[in-house]
Amino acid sequence: MSRDDPADRAAAGGLGAVASTLVRSARDLGVVRSLEVLSTVNQTRGFDCPGCAWPDPDVRAATEFCENGAKAVAHEATPKRVTADFFADWSISALREQSDYWLEQQGRLTEPMRRAPGSDHYEPVSWDEAFAGIARGLRALDSPDEALFYTSGRTSNEAAFLYQLFARGFGTNNLPDCSNLCHESSGVGLGEVIGVGKGTVSLEDFEIADAIFVIGQNPGTNHPRMLSALQAAKRRGARIVAINPLRERGLVRFAHPQEPLSWLGRGTEIADLYLQVRVGGDVALLQGIAKAVLEAEARRPGRVLDHAFLAGRTTGFEAWRAHVAEQGWEGLETASGVDRGVMRAAAAEYVAADRVIACWAMGITQHRNGVANVQEIVNLLLLRGNIGVPGAGPCPVRGHSNVQGDRTVGITEKPAAAFLDRLDREFAFAAPRDAGLDAVGAICAMRDGHAKAFVGLGGNFAVASPDSEVTAQALARCDLTVQISTKLNRSHLCCGREAWILPCLGRTERDVQASGPQFVTVENSMSVVHRSEGRLDPAAGSLRSEVAIVAGLAEAVLGGDGPAAPWSLFASDYARIRDAISRVVPGFDDYEARVRKPGGFVLHSGARQRRFETPDGRARFTVHPLPETGVAPGRFRLTTIRSHDQFNTTIYGHDDRYRGIAGDRRVLLLGARDLEEVGMRAGDRVDVTSHHEGETRTLRGFRLVEYDLPRGCAAAYFPEANALVPVDSFAEGSRTPTYKSVEVSLAASA
Ligand code: SF4
Repeated sequence: MSRDDPADRAAAGGLGAVASTLVRSARDLGVVRSLEVLSTVNQTRGFDCPGCAWPDPDVRAATEFCENGAKAVAHEATPKRVTADFFADWSISALREQSDYWLEQQGRLTEPMRRAPGSDHYEPVSWDEAFAGIARGLRALDSPDEALFYTSGRTSNEAAFLYQLFARGFGTNNLPDCSNLCHESSGVGLGEVIGVGKGTVSLEDFEIADAIFVIGQNPGTNHPRMLSALQAAKRRGARIVAINPLRERGLVRFAHPQEPLSWLGRGTEIADLYLQVRVGGDVALLQGIAKAVLEAEARRPGRVLDHAFLAGRTTGFEAWRAHVAEQGWEGLETASGVDRGVMRAAAAEYVAADRVIACWAMGITQHRNGVANVQEIVNLLLLRGNIGVPGAGPCPVRGHSNVQGDRTVGITEKPAAAFLDRLDREFAFAAPRDAGLDAVGAICAMRDGHAKAFVGLGGNFAVASPDSEVTAQALARCDLTVQISTKLNRSHLCCGREAWILPCLGRTERDVQASGPQFVTVENSMSVVHRSEGRLDPAAGSLRSEVAIVAGLAEAVLGGDGPAAPWSLFASDYARIRDAISRVVPGFDDYEARVRKPGGFVLHSGARQRRFETPDGRARFTVHPLPETGVAPGRFRLTTIRSHDQFNTTIYGHDDRYRGIAGDRRVLLLGARDLEEVGMRAGDRVDVTSHHEGETRTLRGFRLVEYDLPRGCAAAYFPEANALVPVDSFAEGSRTPTYKSVEVSLAASA
């Protein structure tokens, strides 16, 4: 830890965040528009930030957003426009030559566009022409299962519910979504051991937890308002343990942007203990910490573990204990890259706390053993009954505002039979029962010619997916691609033989339908369902809402077949959609009345009260062998990361202030000793080659950056490094791509 370590140079947040917010907002929106839009984001009668899924406090501040939330809002509310003239000037081939950053800087899409077969230009069409053309294309398929209906995590509950009904009405469960690419390992891992695929804590639990473990997550950049909760916890004496291969500024120090007096100081120290685990070393580390807890129990029998909880509410403890006891410290140290003394220190923090929350994100889920990582966290929490009580529990933090809500209302390729039964009853049809394709399955099906139509509801599938070249070619192999989007991105250029762009309203914009102004609803990481209502005038008069577009497509494609759904009525009044949801989705009874209350309502799960919906009604310990994460001599284990100037695939700029990187995203981070060992220096350019089951993929010309990383580990930015991640390299059980762990070799660039 040194002053020239970017993580220690300054506190996260503080003056830097305020300055960045003011500069960006004024540049992209102007002062008046900035005030208009930033004064309503995350307010109870305002709109939900289109960024991550961190919850809002009951008492909102006047400025209830973070620096990256402001960037997300500015990005959507930009006055720039991509019109028919733009597409007349720019051919698809010419646009493909532009960077992803440049594409997204062009502005908001304004009208429906079609790329006719054989044409190199998008041309304007009417909405009716678009719906009719897409209907023609979908109906021309030999089977409904040749179609894919992708959903991004920004989609509202109302649009997502109609979308799944449309796809199932069309006859398929091919509903891949961005959750497949990020927290699927959390859903699968938690579902198996506590009976629900979601966290069990609330924001209020952060106010009483004694210790908070932050594992494989960089909240300073990806969930910035979480730092306020961590700072408040520190100030009242809670302890924080950070587990991350990289030293991240947001986990070291934080100055609250709304506390000017703190800007000039060094801020609040966040992590009391920082464990820089090797990439892929989480199972070993968590078993090591648990082993030390068992040692403490052996020293003080009956006074460390929650025996009543273990006996009364769990199963599998003894088999798990035997497994952990067999693990030697040396093996755990080698596999985790962390010294036993440090693991024991983390265990001491755990044991000293009566109430512990464990938070995590992609650093845990996007590994071959992502599900095992999640379940090892739960194993640790169960030891002292840290679940289903105030101040304690598992907390996967979602990176997209409604990714959790989409899944809740039916966006899944493997729907539960009970859900389909209720859907059939509600809409008098027979939904398909065979499981559909997830994101990885969708890429392979398009690549192999089994899927011929891709419909994207938001997002940037071509860039968010692994194996970028394979995915781009797979999309281009389709007969039909449809992108429902707010802004131009690369997925519009990886287009099928016939391609359509349908521009939709953004989260910040007023949505007025036949029955009047509408609001939509979303669900955050802590299962709070709440409303979102845009305030700005739409970017163009011809835009339609996601709900109206899905309803229009369903009417045109299904033509009255399939579900007995009043599509137009749904589009005219979203309360009708919520009414249907209240009968189909458990926990949404009295939906309309409850969501109209300030702050909305919590979707409770049994696990929050220790009622585990597992086969035997008990929380389950699971045994996981240490995964093989070694690499061949001279190679590294690469993890992908996000800069402080991006949101998922959206690049806001080329600087990464918190890591001290400026003006370049084609960088590879390596530790000082590894740089020395490969005989290279910071600034040198290297070609990076991934190795997977005999296959190689190479990216050229990455600039080496010295960064505090464990030996044998490297890091590069998502999505630039996605091309190194093979489509068939994914987590067991969840099929989440292994963006966080790829074996690579380096060679000096020519
Ligand atoms: S923490 Fe997440 S949801 Fe909150 S303002 Fe920032 S980006 Fe938006």
